[in-house]
Amino acid sequence: MLINQKFLLTPGPTPVPERVIQAMNQPMIAHRGKQFPKLLEETATRLAPIFGSPNPVILISGSGTGALETAASNIVEANDDIVVVVTGAFGDRFASICETFGANVHRLEVEWGKACQPDQLEEYVKTIGKNVKAVFATYCETSTGVLNPIQQLGETVNRISDALFVVDGVSCIGAVPVDMERWHIDMLVSGSQKALMLPPGLAFVALSNRAKEAVKNCRTKRFYLDLNKYVTSYEKEYSTPFTPSVSLIYGAREVCSMIEEEGFENVISRHMLLKKMLREGLKALDLPLLASDEDASPTVTAVITNTSESKQIKSALENNYGIILAGGQKKLKGEIFRIGHMGYCTPFDMLRVLNALEMTLSETAGKGILGRGISKAQEVWLEYV
Ligand SMILES: *Cc1c(COP(=O)(O)O)cnc(C)c1O
Repeated sequence: MLINQKFLLTPGPTPVPERVIQAMNQPMIAHRGKQFPKLLEETATRLAPIFGSPNPVILISGSGTGALETAASNIVEANDDIVVVVTGAFGDRFASICETFGANVHRLEVEWGKACQPDQLEEYVKTIGKNVKAVFATYCETSTGVLNPIQQLGETVNRISDALFVVDGVSCIGAVPVDMERWHIDMLVSGSQKALMLPPGLAFVALSNRAKEAVKNCRTKRFYLDLNKYVTSYEKEYSTPFTPSVSLIYGAREVCSMIEEEGFENVISRHMLLKKMLREGLKALDLPLLASDEDASPTVTAVITNTSESKQIKSALENNYGIILAGGQKKLKGEIFRIGHMGYCTPFDMLRVLNALEMTLSETAGKGILGRGISKAQEVWLEYV
């Protein structure tokens, strides 16, 4: 059978649209020449509404973890009291990075598969006391498919403390609403290969005005990731302190055009639709979901299985249908598989993965299962059109 197309339904990397590939495929320009400042300014300012940022977005060469380290190294000093909300593997990584810079890290451990509730955070921060310098949280916890209520968490932090609020938005920015000023977010970071439909390699950092001051005053040693250098270089000459990833920035500008053309509100509701179609379809197939409807992310869905079933489903989907899914990470290794549905992803992709799951499961569950998930997903889609 002809299956030479691969469908990446991993929660990063994600498919890159043809027009973004074309936009990146250009002759190199000198970043100290005339063209680059215009490219950078345009991209940084057009990304700002996607990040809900009051300032142009800072672009750094590196993966998402580079963005997390940038956040920590520009805010955290040795012996600072830092609260990190840990709802999964990426919250855990944020905490480890803060520890690397010598902080006194207080981990608010939330059961994996659940979102952090604002009152949980309030109680926890209050027990630590007044000295908390910053609260770090993950918007979409990719390892569990949970979307934390970042708006409410930000409002809570702001109401009960002077702490800075730092958010990892790697696996959802570009697909979800966010408003840094109204939600009291001081630093919001992301990466290129998730909802922003780009290849890996570009890290994004958005700063509030208060965070800009905090970054200026932070004495932690850093060189390449020193945000002051990036802010100065941008404000002086729309440039970057070091050689930028020019091709990826061409791509990022094209992504801005795509999001503007579709309308950011429509992009957000498309992701809500993808989530609902997939979840209702999976439920109709009796596949148990890790996150509740309230906590579930619009960009990634985790299905509970066991190790052998997860392996079998993943390899059947890849070998027979060209669909690539992801497994579980850390604590959840072997216990779940994950379907990414962010960025360049359509309702048809949800029907495609449900189709492949139904055909795979029919080997054991019988033909009665065929069409069950798909028709449920179609009903959900019909309500939207
Ligand atoms: C993917 C991801 C990261 C890490 O990104 P890398 O590009 O793999 O370094 C960090 N946080 C979250 C929430 C992610 O989904």
